[in-house]
Amino acid sequence: MQSDARARSEIAHYCRLLWDRRLVTGTSGNVSVRLDDGDLLVTPSGVSLRELYENDIVRVDAHGTPRNPQQRPTSELPLHLAAYDVRADARCIIHTHPTFCVVWSKVGSVFPRDTVGARETLGPVAWTAYRDPGTHDLARLCAVEFSRGFDTVVMERHGVSTVATTLEHAFVLTDLAEEAARIAYFSRIANLTE
Ligand SMILES: [Zn+2]
Repeated sequence: MQSDARARSEIAHYCRLLWDRRLVTGTSGNVSVRLDDGDLLVTPSGVSLRELYENDIVRVDAHGTPRNPQQRPTSELPLHLAAYDVRADARCIIHTHPTFCVVWSKVGSVFPRDTVGARETLGPVAWTAYRDPGTHDLARLCAVEFSRGFDTVVMERHGVSTVATTLEHAFVLTDLAEEAARIAYFSRIANLTE
């Protein structure tokens, strides 16, 4: 049972954590929670996750229409809607632009996940080809991977999206993905085996 007020407070909390961990910069990144009645709470467009007030968070119906027409949800809303569509179990989505995930995304495949942290907690990760941000094309591409059971999707030259039943778990997946990509990057430039 997730109330509107409690979910808003959790979203604001995890947005600050994402900022503090440098998983987002500027006004990048967006977060959503699906409520029991099917409505979504999503972060607003053009606002830094650094200092997000609970009232800034936008409540939209299952089709993405804001309950308060004065508010503008994130431009990446199609990605959230498409992911929830294919994953009945998903209650939360976190989309970020973590540096090392974005760097490694240019390789054209997922970074190696040979460390204990990556193997035991992160789990399978999918890679998707570049599509323009905010488009239905991008949303569709990511949804295909979510529908295959991947909870973490790396998006070429863009970022990472995670789905989970709690914001805590979506945050941990994002944080671990960035750490695995960082380790892969330094291993590669140090010429260590992967
Ligand atoms: Zn993005």
